[in-house]
Amino acid sequence: MRHADQAQTPRAPWPERRKRATQAQRSRDRRAGRDRRDRRDRRDRGDRRGWWALGLILAALAVLVTSNIPTYPLVQHAKVVVPVAQGADAGGHRTASAAQRATPITLITPITPITPTLPPLPPLPTLPPTPMPTPDPNLEANLRMGCTFGGMPPVLPGVIFDGVNTALQAAPPREVALTFDDGPTPYSTPPILSYLEQTHTPATFMVEGQYVHLWPSLVQREWRDGFAVGVHTWDHPSMTRLTPAQRHFQLDATLQALHAALGPTACIWFWRPPYGDYNTAVVQTAATFGLSTIWWDVDPRDWSLPGTTVIVSRVLAQVRAGAIILLHDGPALRDETRAALPGILAGLRARGLRLVTLPQLLEDGQYLRAGVRQRWAAAMS
Ligand SMILES: [Zn+2]
Repeated sequence: MRHADQAQTPRAPWPERRKRATQAQRSRDRRAGRDRRDRRDRRDRGDRRGWWALGLILAALAVLVTSNIPTYPLVQHAKVVVPVAQGADAGGHRTASAAQRATPITLITPITPITPTLPPLPPLPTLPPTPMPTPDPNLEANLRMGCTFGGMPPVLPGVIFDGVNTALQAAPPREVALTFDDGPTPYSTPPILSYLEQTHTPATFMVEGQYVHLWPSLVQREWRDGFAVGVHTWDHPSMTRLTPAQRHFQLDATLQALHAALGPTACIWFWRPPYGDYNTAVVQTAATFGLSTIWWDVDPRDWSLPGTTVIVSRVLAQVRAGAIILLHDGPALRDETRAALPGILAGLRARGLRLVTLPQLLEDGQYLRAGVRQRWAAAMS
């Protein structure tokens, strides 16, 4: 086309052509600018329509959501807090102040609890009461002491010097009884007890009430460990020089101290008079407490501290089958007595003599009517 125009129309001079070209270019530029504006206006109108549509959709959604929210729990769970007034009325109810009474409070009916209420359990069937007597903690110890269930052996007549019952002309048992007097004391008794326990040596302790009262744990240890326990008065007087009331006190107070330490059912049934000092009145006073009177027949005089080897040799020189050996675990230090024990035990074993408690010796010497061993076996079977 351009070539055709150029061919039909004569060429205009250069300035004219330059002017026309410029006018044509400007016309094209105007058209292009108009087109751009039109496109921009159309795009803006489209955007505005999109935003309007989105807003309408969101508004519709909001209406839908809020219309489905259950509003009752929010309201009904709200608590109405009423401040507690200074005082309460006679019925124990809260009393509101004047300001609170002036402001009406809308109370909301409480909702029913969500947790379902379970039906009450049926009551348990009531069983008939079963008699369950409390086990006597002294049962074993009492049986080892030669006691019956809840009873002491009958008081032995006279004074017992050894385990040989000459009235029956029975053969003396190949046994001896170690007895320790004047304790329990915290300085001498524990080392002696420990050695006897470690060597499993039965023994008997004749205790003073004043020391049982002062150190009950020591006699409790003796009792629990299976040793036999007898009375040696409250504070070691010569009983023959006391009035009847004083004699009564010496035995009664000591038995009370023993029962306080060992329990009311502890069976204590023998005693030894201090210094071996007794007469008929003394023995009869002891009998009123159910106490049999025990003496000894082997005395190494260990309390005089003659030396360990002397104590051992004196015991082994005097000992025989059925002997009752007198030693001491108080009130002064008895280190020599403790140190003499290994030699005494070895010498007794060499002579074929078995160490037993005093009740066992009297049982095997036919002094006790019912057998300690039989009772013990029957109770444990
Ligand atoms: Zn004594």
